Amino acid sequence: MGRYYVETHGCQMNERDSETIAALLEQMGYVAAEDPRNADVLVVNTCAVREAAERKAWARLRELASVKKRNRGALVVLAGCVAEIPHTLEKAKELRDLVDVLVGPAEISKLPELIRQAEEKRELCYALSGPRRGRVPFGPPPEGMPRKLASGVSAYVTIMYGCDNFCTYCVVPFVRGPQLSRKPEDIIDEVRKLAAAGYKEVFLLGQNVNAYGLDLGGDYRFHHLLRDLNHIEGLVRIRYATSHPRDFSEEMVDVIASLDKVCEHFHLPVQSGSNRILKAMNRGYTREDYIRLVDYIKAKIPGASVTTDIIVGFPGETEEDFKDTLSLVEYCRFDGAFTFIFSPRRGSAAARMPDQIPYKEKQRRLELLADVTKRITLERNKQLLGSVVEVLLEEPDQRNPGAMRGRTRTNKMVVTPDGGRVGDLVLVKVEEAGTWYLKGPTVKAAED
Ligand code: SAH
Ligand code: SF4
Repeated sequence: MGRYYVETHGCQMNERDSETIAALLEQMGYVAAEDPRNADVLVVNTCAVREAAERKAWARLRELASVKKRNRGALVVLAGCVAEIPHTLEKAKELRDLVDVLVGPAEISKLPELIRQAEEKRELCYALSGPRRGRVPFGPPPEGMPRKLASGVSAYVTIMYGCDNFCTYCVVPFVRGPQLSRKPEDIIDEVRKLAAAGYKEVFLLGQNVNAYGLDLGGDYRFHHLLRDLNHIEGLVRIRYATSHPRDFSEEMVDVIASLDKVCEHFHLPVQSGSNRILKAMNRGYTREDYIRLVDYIKAKIPGASVTTDIIVGFPGETEEDFKDTLSLVEYCRFDGAFTFIFSPRRGSAAARMPDQIPYKEKQRRLELLADVTKRITLERNKQLLGSVVEVLLEEPDQRNPGAMRGRTRTNKMVVTPDGGRVGDLVLVKVEEAGTWYLKGPTVKAAED
């Protein structure tokens, strides 16, 4: 019997796609291999958002070439966003030893057919949606594809594919195509089934969930979907990402505030605190708009957590612009921030802009920014010392035998030494607060 191994790089979308890839391979009769060295089909589900991620994908394929050599007949599949980068097909043709199958994120359903073809013909087989120029019609992936769920507590649910925003630094709209929302009834049905199967949490995925439904016509929007999902019995928590600050209306905040299952965590990538840079990034909001939204959230939902993504070293970013980012961070006091060095991506508008910032300078800014964001995260976490938080237990804590880890509704990781079962909702008293975790005893165990 053949064995398969799937390796996932990048974001939650890829994690979700890998669940379907694994299930499709199992339907073909393959079984999971613990170790890639024993696999007959090796899938690398790749990320293309920064150059470093693309480089990592190719480096990994080079490493796996040795498995291919030893395990004669093993097939290597390059899946995910790197597959859709325009030069990847040429590169894969040149490097025939590395890749047998190329499959884009919207084409996963064709994987079984591609693998059969590659086994038979022993030539590069591929299904790509093609680089998007204007509105090349990527079809939405079919409904009802199988999945092999990675966790027993929380399940990803894709609510929309692609992105229409064209932030000037970003490659996602090119590799994942235009925004395509799934129908509300398909999403609701999927979540209902997950809840009936015992899942406590769903994590709704989209590049810009706040624009959900815009492409469907009609006036059904993200907050309507949340309202419908909130009724589903058995479900305890609803999370979502990513929110685009431009499309996050105050009405959405009001609805979220009124829905008991929707968590009080707002991941709102700001990218920069400088109006000049936000404009050059084509983000569609100003620093003032962003601050108004964060203030509104915090006033409406006391105790809400707000996290963000920030890019330093966008072309033309001056010391003044960078200071604007630092001051915005000090003002918003984010619970967490993912900070990135601007990576010029071929095909994106920003890669062609003048005044690219030298790498060393970008690195200096990143270090300064990360010091500030980490300090604030720790301060925010320390504010929770002595309080009691609701935790959904997700898994045993590897480092402390008997201990469990889970998350608060605000998405903070919590470790409790008092154990419990995966999927239990418990109350924990916070006695220790670090940058990445909270820790303390369980003061109230789950009720049966
Ligand atoms: N759709 C989401 C995120 C997509 S990519 C959103 O709009 O927020 C995740 C993050 O990667 C982005 O928020 C951005 O901060 C970062 N990113 C995207 N392209 C980048 C690039 N070229 N260089 C550096 N960081 C980038
Ligand atoms: Fe990229 Fe902007 Fe779309 Fe996010 S919203 S995926 S950053 S283009």
